[in-house]
Amino acid sequence: MPKNLVAPNVLLVFPRFNPNSFWSLAPVCEMWGARCPAPPLGLITLAALLPSGWNVRLINRNSEELTPDELGWADLVMTGGMLPQQDDTLALIELAHTHAKPVVVGGPDATSSPEAYRSADFLVLGEAEAVIQDFVKAWSGGADRGVFEAPKFTVDVTTTPIPRFDLLKFDHYLYVGIQFSRGCPFNCEFCDIIELYGRVPRAKSNAQMLAELDALHAAGYRGHVDFVDDNLIGNKKALKRFLPELAAWQKAHRYPFEFTTEASMNLADDRELLMMLREANFIGIFVGIESPDPETLIATQKKQNTRRSLADSVHRIYAAGLYVIAGFIVGFDTEQSAVADAMIDCIEATGIPVAMVGLLTALPNTQLTRRLTREGRLLPFKAVAGGGDQCTSGLNFVTLRPRRDVLIDFRAILASVYEPTAYFARVRRLGRALDRPRHASAIDWKIVGKELRALARILWTMNVKRPDLRSHFWATIMDCLRHQPRNFEAVLTMSVMYLHLGAFAKVLIASLDQQIAELDAAPAPELPLLPAA
Ligand code: SF4
Repeated sequence: MPKNLVAPNVLLVFPRFNPNSFWSLAPVCEMWGARCPAPPLGLITLAALLPSGWNVRLINRNSEELTPDELGWADLVMTGGMLPQQDDTLALIELAHTHAKPVVVGGPDATSSPEAYRSADFLVLGEAEAVIQDFVKAWSGGADRGVFEAPKFTVDVTTTPIPRFDLLKFDHYLYVGIQFSRGCPFNCEFCDIIELYGRVPRAKSNAQMLAELDALHAAGYRGHVDFVDDNLIGNKKALKRFLPELAAWQKAHRYPFEFTTEASMNLADDRELLMMLREANFIGIFVGIESPDPETLIATQKKQNTRRSLADSVHRIYAAGLYVIAGFIVGFDTEQSAVADAMIDCIEATGIPVAMVGLLTALPNTQLTRRLTREGRLLPFKAVAGGGDQCTSGLNFVTLRPRRDVLIDFRAILASVYEPTAYFARVRRLGRALDRPRHASAIDWKIVGKELRALARILWTMNVKRPDLRSHFWATIMDCLRHQPRNFEAVLTMSVMYLHLGAFAKVLIASLDQQIAELDAAPAPELPLLPAA
C-alpha cells in the first residue's frame, strides 16, 4: 500500500505504566469509576501541532485496548512516554512493525535515552514544538527513517497550541492535566527535569492559559485539573500575574475546576502566593521534601528545604487550604543510620498522609548519574530495576552504607507510615489543620451523580469489603465532620488513598524482605559496574 504522505491517519498511543506502582492508584480509580489516573497531555499537545489535514486518533493503553482494527487504520503510529513506560513502548514498536506500520517515538524517556529506542523508525527528541515540523516535512517528502532533535530549552511556550482535549474520553480519568510553565530554577542533583526543560522556567501567557481552560470547559469537563508543571512557582512573577486572572475566571464560571500541582517548599514562605492559590481553588500540592537531614539536603543540592522547620512550613500550606503530598528518598550517600526514625518523625510531624517514600534512583542524564559514573559506582539500570518507579526499583548504584541497611531502613519507614492506625491518625490531623475556603461553586448534576456513586462504592468497600479498615475510616470521617466538615472531600480522598497505599506498601515490604534475604544468603553479589568515565 503506498504511503499516505498528505493526510495520513495518525494513531497516537500512550504506553502502559507498570500497574503496580505508587501512582497507578487502581483502587482509587475504581471508587471514582475511572480507568486510570490521567490522560497523556504530551500526546494531545502533539496532536495540536500536527497539520490540520492529518487524521488523528488517540489510544491510551492504560485505559483501553489497542485493537488490530485501530492499527490497521493507521498510516503512522506516534508514541512515547517516561522511563516506567519504556518496556511497553518497545513492545508497541514491535507490534506496530508486525502490522508494517512505521513508528515515531518521542517524549522524555526517548530524549534521555535515545539509544533504547533504536527499533523506532523516527525519533523526535526534546520539546516537540521546536522540531515536529521537520519531521512532518521529512514524512511528507517520503522519508522512512530519521532522528529530529530539538535545540535545548528554546521553545517559546507562549506559542504552544491548545491541547486537543476533544480527543479525550473524560470518564476514563480521575483528573486532567494542563501546563503553565516548564523548567525549574533549582538544581537538585538527582533531578532530570532540569536536564530536559532547563533552569529558566518558561511560562505561558495569561490569555493562552484562560483559552486552554475555556477549551476544557467547552469540551464538557468539570472537576480535578492538575497543573503538571515541574515547579509551578518556578517563575513566581509570571504566576502572580496569572493567578488573579485565574481566580476571576473560576469565580465567573462558578468554580468548575479544583486544581492541584507540584511546587517547591519555598512556597510556604510566600503568604501572598498561598492566598492567591487559595482564591483560585487550588486544593493540594506535591512537594519534594526528600530528606529530614539538612546535611543530606545540602549534599544533594536541595538547599531550598534547609534552614526551616519542615513541619511549620507544611502547616502554613495547610492553613492556606491546600493538602500536601510529599516525596521522600532513602539511599543518599550522606545518610546516617538514624534516617528511618528521623524520616518517620518528619512524616508524623508534618501530618502528611500520602508520603511517597522511594529509593534514590540515578535516572539517565542527571548530575547524579554523571557523578556515580565518574566514581565507578553506577550499576546497569535494568540489573536492579523493575521499570523505573523509585518505589519499586532504585538504588541502581553501589551504596556507601551497606545496601542491606538502606533496604532495612526503607522497609521500617514503609511499615511505620503505612500501618493503618498511623495513616488514619495523620488523615485526622490533616482534617483539622486544613482551612478550606468556601467558594460558591455551581451545582453540576452530572458531577453530583458521579460523586454519589463514588460515595456509595466507598461506603460499601470500607464497611463490607474492608472490615479491617472500618473503625479507622469511621473514626476519621466522624472526626472531620465534628471539627472541620468543610474538609470532608479532602479527608475522604485521603482515606480512599489508603486502599491503594496500604496494599502497595505490603507488596513493597514483601519484595524488600526477599531482597534482604537474598543479600543475607549471598552477601556480596556484586553487579557488573559500568566503566568509569
Ligand atoms: S525542586 Fe524539583 S523540579 Fe526543581 S530541581 Fe529540585 S527536584 Fe527538580
